[in-house]
Amino acid sequence: MASENPRFAFTVAATDGRARTGQIAMRRGTIRTPAFMPVGTAATVKAMKPEDVRATGADIILGNTYHLMLRPGAERVARLGGLHKFMRWDRPILTDSGGYQVMSLSDLRKLTEKGVEFRSHIDGSKHMLTPERSMEIQRLLGSDIVMAFDECPRADRPMEEIEASMELSMRWAQRSRDAFDAGGDHAENSALFGIQQGALDKGLRARSAEALRKIGFDGYAIGGLAVGEGQEAMFDVLDYAPGMLPEDAPRYLMGVGKPDDLVGAVERGVDMFDCVLPTRSGRNGQAFTWNGPVNLRNARHAEDTGPLDPRCHCATCASYSRAYLHHLHKSGEILGAMLVTEHNLSFYQQLMQAMRDAISAGTFDDFARNFRRDYLKA
Ligand SMILES: [Zn+2]
Repeated sequence: MASENPRFAFTVAATDGRARTGQIAMRRGTIRTPAFMPVGTAATVKAMKPEDVRATGADIILGNTYHLMLRPGAERVARLGGLHKFMRWDRPILTDSGGYQVMSLSDLRKLTEKGVEFRSHIDGSKHMLTPERSMEIQRLLGSDIVMAFDECPRADRPMEEIEASMELSMRWAQRSRDAFDAGGDHAENSALFGIQQGALDKGLRARSAEALRKIGFDGYAIGGLAVGEGQEAMFDVLDYAPGMLPEDAPRYLMGVGKPDDLVGAVERGVDMFDCVLPTRSGRNGQAFTWNGPVNLRNARHAEDTGPLDPRCHCATCASYSRAYLHHLHKSGEILGAMLVTEHNLSFYQQLMQAMRDAISAGTFDDFARNFRRDYLKA
């Protein structure tokens, strides 16, 4: 690691309305914001080599605590030299806390003040995740940005349940802070983010933000969105939630989203995103372009010799026709998944770069209007 780089330094270079652009300097590299983080669930961004992920313009990727603790196991990754060395990605990695996936993927959960007991979706083995164990796993992996352990209830639960869950998450945020700070070298070289909860309720969001501010974190995530509430409800929350969080720290909207979600969220002051959409869609033949989503399995592409997106600068668009990509996806060829994943990740990074440029130039409103006209035909 280059010693001249700071542990964590966020600077805002320009703002335009509520949108802002800047960078996060860290030991393993600098993250340009607004940033999109490709998801590398099981120590791989599916269908992509790490050097190709970097070539799309990604400054940071995300790894999943839940998946890695079950297979290959955090202790094993640590014995093999940590996640960066294991998967050959030497830039920053953000790891989630496992809290969300333990609730959405595992069987037979038992939630207590201490943490969550659950059975693996892979082999039924019994595990326990607590704030302390989540911090230990993220430290064993060698994560650069560690997420506090939280609980994310469904937004359609009764209000008393959402309130109790938010309060539990804030107690866990303090325990995460304490356990992270006890992590020695790792704590001195990495960052910890807190996660705001409170579903769609402004009062609960304010209380959650206040609790997190008191504890103090390097960055603040907006959790509990993109869980089925719809874009309008999400934007309603984003109209006020980022403003409740400290201005001098990055704000990270977890698990979002579609290209038009990203534009609307940046417009409302969000700095960081992650989502499986570009990679998962790429494997299914769903491509994102400046003119909207394209389903490559559709017969209308069968003899189309043009590129997927004439405005895209990626390697796929430079070399391959829509007709060929259509054929690969109709035939279930692995290369089809690889090429469209590469395009989608490149498109997402080109979108982030275009937003950063527009904010710097003070033309974000024009950019957003033109984007929606072409992408949403709006
Ligand atoms: Zn492309």
